[in-house]
Amino acid sequence: MPSEGRTLPDPLRVVIAGGGVAALEALAALGAVVPCRVTPVLITKTINFRYRPLLLGEPFGHGAPRAYPLDGIAADHGAELIADDVVEVMPDMHAVRTAGDALVPYDVLIVATGARAYPAFQDGIAFDRETSPEDFDEALADLGAGLAPHVAIVVPDGVTWTLPAYQLALQIAAWGRSHHASASVVTLLTPERKPLEAFGETVSLEVADLLEAERIVVRTGVHPDVVTATALRAGGRWLGADRIVALPLLQGPRLLGLPHDAHGFLDTTNIPDVHVAGDAGCATAIKQGGLAAQQADAVVARIARRCGAPAPAHDPEPMVLRGILDTRSGPRFLRAALDDPDATSTFSPEPLWWPPTAVATRRLAPYLAGLEVTARV
Ligand SMILES: Cc1cc2nc3c(=O)[nH]c(=O)nc-3n(C[C@H](O)[C@H](O)[C@H](O)COP(=O)(O)OP(=O)(O)OC[C@H]3O[C@@H](n4cnc5c(N)ncnc54)[C@H](O)[C@@H]3O)c2cc1C
Repeated sequence: MPSEGRTLPDPLRVVIAGGGVAALEALAALGAVVPCRVTPVLITKTINFRYRPLLLGEPFGHGAPRAYPLDGIAADHGAELIADDVVEVMPDMHAVRTAGDALVPYDVLIVATGARAYPAFQDGIAFDRETSPEDFDEALADLGAGLAPHVAIVVPDGVTWTLPAYQLALQIAAWGRSHHASASVVTLLTPERKPLEAFGETVSLEVADLLEAERIVVRTGVHPDVVTATALRAGGRWLGADRIVALPLLQGPRLLGLPHDAHGFLDTTNIPDVHVAGDAGCATAIKQGGLAAQQADAVVARIARRCGAPAPAHDPEPMVLRGILDTRSGPRFLRAALDDPDATSTFSPEPLWWPPTAVATRRLAPYLAGLEVTARV
C-alpha cells in the first residue's frame, strides 16, 4: 500500500482532524502504542467532545448529553490543539489548509471528521437532537396528552446504525404508559430482515421478544419511499400514524483534496500518509462510535508498525459491534463480530465489556470514566 512506503521521521508529527470518538481514540492510542516519539496535533473548531448516546434519553428526562472540553483532553495527551476546521488536504505538500487559511504540515494525517445528519424525508419528524429537537419534543407532549396515540418509528433505507430506533421505540412505549396514554401504539418499521440484524440471530430473537412484551409492533423488510406528517408509503401500500419519527441519514464530509464516494464518504487508500477513521470513511458500512474507535485503533497500529512495533497476532483484528439497549429491566448488552454475527451474537444483562459504556472504546472510554464531567450541553 503506497501510504506504508516512506520511512517515518522521529519525532513523528501526527495531525488528527476532528474532535469526536475516532479522533480522540486515535489520540489516546498514539501515546500508548507508537514506539517512536510522536508530536500530536488535533485540529477542530469543536470546543467540546460530545457524548451522543445520551441524546436518546434526553427528551424523556433520562440524563443530559455530556460534553468534555477538548482543550483538557488535548493537554492530557500532550497534543497541540488548533481550534480551526480542516478545509483541504494537500497530499503533495504533506499539509492541510484550515478555514482560517493556515497551512499545517503533517508527517501522518488521520482524518476523523465524522458525518453529517440530514432528514431522510421532507415531511414527518427527523430524530436529530443536535439540530432540531423541537418537533420530537412536541410529538412526545402530544402523546402524553393523548392527542397522538400512534407513533411510528422509521429506519430509512441507508441507515446502518439502527439501534437508536429500537431505543426510541422502547422509550416512547414507556412514556405512553407513564403518561396514562393506555391506548398508545408504537410501530417500528425497518428495512432490516430481523430486528437489529447486524447483531446476529440471538440478539434478533431476544429483541423481538422484548419488543413484543412491550407491545411494540415491529415490521421488518419495510422500505418507505414517501413519508407525510401522518402517513407513509412502503411497497405501494400506505400506513397511517399520528406522528412519524424517522432516523436521519448521514452524508460524508467531502474534504477538498481527498477522493470520496457518491455520499461524500472519504477514501484515502491511495493517498500516502493519510488515513481516515470513523464515520467520515466508507470503509465501514455501519456508522457507529465503537466501530469508529476500532478503525482509529487499527490506523494507529499501522503507524506503530511503521515505527518498528511488532505486528499484532491478528492483523487486522476482527471488528466487533457492541451496543446497549436500555429496557425497563435494566440495560441489555449486545455484541457480535462483524465477520460472523450469527455465530457470535450475544445478548446479556451483564456487561460484556469494560467500562460498560454505550460507545465502547479501548482507550477513550476508560480515560473519560476517570474525568469529571465539567460541562453539560
Ligand atoms: C442519537 C445517537 C445515538 C448514538 N448512539 C450510539 C451508541 O450507543 N453507540 C455507538 O457506538 N455509537 C452511537 N452513535 C453513533 C456515534 O455517535 C458516531 O458513530 C460516532 O460519533 C462517530 O465518531 P466519529 O469520530 O467518526 O465522528 P464524530 O463523533 O461525528 O466526530 C467528528 C468530529 O469532527 C469535527 N469536524 C467535522 N468537520 C471537521 C473539519 N473539517 N475539520 C476538523 N474537525 C471537523 C466535528 O466537529 C466532530 O468533533 C449514536 C449517534 C447518535 C446521533
